[in-house]
Amino acid sequence: MGRIVGLVVIFALIISAAMAQEKMQASVVHDPPPPFVPDPNNLYSFPTGTAVAKGDPWLNLPPIDFAPPPYARYLKGLRICLDPGHGGYQHLKGYKSTASGYSEALMDLDVARYLREFLLKSGVTVVMTRDGDWDLKKDYSEALSARPMLAEIDNCDLFISMHHNATSNSETNFPSAFYHAFPGYSYSNIDLGRAIVNEIEYWLRLPEFAGTGLYSDYLIYNNAGFAVLRQAKVPAILIEASFFSNPDEEVRLKNPDYLKREAWAYYIGIAKYVRDGMPKVELISPPDGILTGKEQKVQFHLIDGCPESWGSKGTPRIVKWSLNLTINDLNVPFEYDETGGILTYRPSQPLQPGKYDFMVRYVNMRKNSNIPRVFSITIQQ
Ligand SMILES: [Zn+2]
Repeated sequence: MGRIVGLVVIFALIISAAMAQEKMQASVVHDPPPPFVPDPNNLYSFPTGTAVAKGDPWLNLPPIDFAPPPYARYLKGLRICLDPGHGGYQHLKGYKSTASGYSEALMDLDVARYLREFLLKSGVTVVMTRDGDWDLKKDYSEALSARPMLAEIDNCDLFISMHHNATSNSETNFPSAFYHAFPGYSYSNIDLGRAIVNEIEYWLRLPEFAGTGLYSDYLIYNNAGFAVLRQAKVPAILIEASFFSNPDEEVRLKNPDYLKREAWAYYIGIAKYVRDGMPKVELISPPDGILTGKEQKVQFHLIDGCPESWGSKGTPRIVKWSLNLTINDLNVPFEYDETGGILTYRPSQPLQPGKYDFMVRYVNMRKNSNIPRVFSITIQQ
């Protein structure tokens, strides 16, 4: 009996290993990406950052003990999508790699794996867009779009695309976060990016820094931005932690301890962002989005997203003057009940039958912004 069970177990293991192998092979693609054609109208170029003086004590890496801070408890229950950049093109000579052939895709993946470990210990469900040297689809641009869609399909709370940068100037080396389009497009992207880039600056002590450290992806692809960010429906950011084209940085990036340190910077940044709260907006009335009858009233419940603590009940934690309501992209007046967090819209003139796009924006007291969501309201007579 025991022998039969043993054989069944071994057989099951062989089958699952074969299935895993097949899944892995199905995910590996070897189509080259389209050749990079520089666009003269494109602003693509990386200026050097502001150099930190050689010998400045700031350049010494701070000690690290990997002890999660107490506020990391607020990560529990979240679903975070990590997107290690690229993958699947190791065989292409010179593709996103250092002079000695160390591939960006590999360093991105290693950092993501360390970060996954930290997040798992804090009770986060981690979804990886890839966990090996492959890309998501055979077509390069389809693969890019598939990455944030995965975050949506898996109902993730955050999407973080993890990269390392390169440029022709070998001195250049600073961290940056790329957000989609304009700051006001979805301000929560910037909240997340700012939190992470601040920590990368602190933990990696790169020889340069660059102003805000925040850049629009329109700087790379004019009026389009990065596909991975454009299609994300949750706070999404693309981080370029450092420049692998800098020879000193290449040496550091080959050290697993350094990659783990970088992952720690992400982890602390994400934990700080989440502690600051992820504000939400819910439609209360009309619950089905269809408005009938004479009295036209649309109501939203605003949830500041800050952790519960003493005084959090009944004390407003939303910055009232930051509130903004638009209908079809036009600002409209509204009433706001601060204690209940209820925003009410009553038109001065009855709205004509049709479909209207409502959007509410605000920041909470820790200055995190809600994800602007469109609520389509249909007026029927
Ligand atoms: Zn990259």
